[in-house]
Amino acid sequence: MITVDEHRTRVLDASHVLPAERLPLAAALGLVLADDVSSRWPVPLFDNSAMDGYAVRRADAAAGAVLRIVADVAAGSSEDPPLGPGEAARIMTGAPVPSDADAIVPLEQTDLGIAIQETPPERITVLAEPGQSAHIRRRGDDAPAGSLAVAAGTPLGAWQLSSIASAGHDHVAVIRVPRVAVVSTGSELISPSATPERGQIPESNSVLLSAAVRSAGAEVVTVGTVADDPDALRRILDELDADVVILSGGASVGAFDVVKAVLGGERGIRFDAVSMQPGKPQGFGVLDSGMLAFCLPGNPVSVAASFEMFVRPALRRMAGHSVIDRPRIIRSAATGWRCPPGRTQILPVVFDEDTVRPSTSGGSGSHLVTSLAIASAFAIIPAETERVEEGDPVTVMVLS
Ligand code: AMP
Ligand code: MG
Repeated sequence: MITVDEHRTRVLDASHVLPAERLPLAAALGLVLADDVSSRWPVPLFDNSAMDGYAVRRADAAAGAVLRIVADVAAGSSEDPPLGPGEAARIMTGAPVPSDADAIVPLEQTDLGIAIQETPPERITVLAEPGQSAHIRRRGDDAPAGSLAVAAGTPLGAWQLSSIASAGHDHVAVIRVPRVAVVSTGSELISPSATPERGQIPESNSVLLSAAVRSAGAEVVTVGTVADDPDALRRILDELDADVVILSGGASVGAFDVVKAVLGGERGIRFDAVSMQPGKPQGFGVLDSGMLAFCLPGNPVSVAASFEMFVRPALRRMAGHSVIDRPRIIRSAATGWRCPPGRTQILPVVFDEDTVRPSTSGGSGSHLVTSLAIASAFAIIPAETERVEEGDPVTVMVLS
């Protein structure tokens, strides 16, 4: 037996960051930026008004001064109206400040107040003298041209994408996400809508894994189901074009364990007993094609646990993320439960502000698919713990 950490280390050592590609901003959400993005311009681009008001020459704008309004500057205007002594321009927020002006008097600091007419007034009386550069956002105030807008390695969310657009770019270099194939094995598997005959069950692992892969930010390129037939499995594997294949079922030592039969002989693939429950039989390695192969046990809860412990961190690393793990929190056990001796327990749970409890009362069997439907987390109980007592602190890996 190897430990969960030993297996995880083996997996992560083989999971390398993928190359970069250029994508339009609209396609880059959630991806990791490959190169620093710098601003093509100073931000702001030009001196502009922070208020609706009047652009004035400060020397003429003492309290009580009457100014003649000789121009009207809206946002987007390309004009630079000259201002002589005693003259001012009406100006709207974001509009370029006339070169002759050195302060903005907001509407509310004039005798006319904030009521805006379609055409500018002929004259205004200034109520309070503006300070030097009052309400002017100066060119380059926020950042000079060429300054770093978003650093390489940053995962791109809405805020980062908008910063990149402001910096003058509509494409970005991002780390490519892994392309993943999902293959379920088992002669008992039928489509969920079919009517099972004796011995048959609905195939659900590919549904779980495809959704989990997509939730992890990776791309699903192939989904397939194959019977416990070595030739059929070999054919499917030969045709795959992916960075990662996730197989489920047939990874143990049963008479028909097709994945182990086919891949057990491959250089680079190793099958281990990992000291965890569920998820003990695990195969992993790199195929000659360079494709990573995860061979997970077939039980649905084992698949979910194996994905979270090993596959998801690998997919995140390949996509360039530095945070590859789910957040973990500590909650107090609302009830006691037994733990498998010498194995890390990975138990579907529900939790609230204070407490955590198993999501079913029926124990932690790897076949208990219903325990997943109401679970929102896995409790991770160390191998050396034999029993969780009510009130014990429990590590909870939060899934969303
Ligand atoms: P195996 O690891 O192939 O021995 O499978 C263990 C258990 O998981 C068996 O009861 C299988 O029927 C079940 N199982 C395997 N693959 C799937 C699947 N894709 N969907 C649902 N159940 C499965
Ligand atoms: Mg099987």
